[in-house]
Amino acid sequence: ILLIIGFVFVGVALFISAAMSKKAMIPISRAFTRQREFVGDASHELRTPLSVLLSSLDAIEMTIDTKKEEFAGKLLSNMRQEVKRMTSLVSDLLTLARSDSNIIERRSETFDFLPHAEKAIESVESLANAKQINLHFDAPDTLMAKGDPERLSQLLYILLDNAIKYTPNQGEVWLLLSREGQELCIRVKDTGIGIKKEDFHRVFERFYRADKSRSRQMGGHGLGLSIAKWIVETHEGTINISSEIGKGTEFTIRIPLKK
Ligand code: ADP
Repeated sequence: ILLIIGFVFVGVALFISAAMSKKAMIPISRAFTRQREFVGDASHELRTPLSVLLSSLDAIEMTIDTKKEEFAGKLLSNMRQEVKRMTSLVSDLLTLARSDSNIIERRSETFDFLPHAEKAIESVESLANAKQINLHFDAPDTLMAKGDPERLSQLLYILLDNAIKYTPNQGEVWLLLSREGQELCIRVKDTGIGIKKEDFHRVFERFYRADKSRSRQMGGHGLGLSIAKWIVETHEGTINISSEIGKGTEFTIRIPLKK
């Protein structure tokens, strides 16, 4: 009888512990999924009101004479800047939420990377001109890449935008592309403020900014490099930093061409 009671007791204990561990696991994984869905849904829902706000600001700006109403003009321009900043934050959050849920379909094609790189350079030219920064671009005549053209262009844009943001006026920024063996090599170099060695890993963390006040002043919100890292990882590539404080920074990305 004692043996039977012992077996029943052990059985019940095993059943309860199995049920408890199952109970504990489901809510945690569900909570993560819900959290991801929430961030994704919230970002998605915020996009429409933000674009309505931006076009309303355009309409108001057209109706007032900003020379006569200087104060109102200044307020409107501040509002535009903040709405643009929020739009970019929401779009980055949406990208990361989608990347967490693995719902972004990544195109994988073999394509000429050169026109994409030229476009990325064009899109940051006005930012560089505003700071009298010299933009240099060097690449072979044709450079085939393998992967998602849109994402790889976004990667260039993030790195070039940062290089310009964190380089003082009259500095230099380079985009250097090459093929090294079976890899596409992307180098983005600047003569900017530099990154401390202990921050090399942290700058890829979400919302991490080495210099919070400077980054915010420049319009940054600390998600660009997390997205860059994710893009590189989905292409099975690597991203490395070399930097010296006050001298400049170089990001090197290698993307395999054959996969
Ligand atoms: P942010 O929107 O703040 O620029 P990122 O994720 O793109 O966010 O970059 C994270 C942090 O890494 C930045 O806040 C900045 O401190 C640092 N950083 C990125 N690129 C550079 C660079 N080229 N030179 C110096 N610091 C940089």
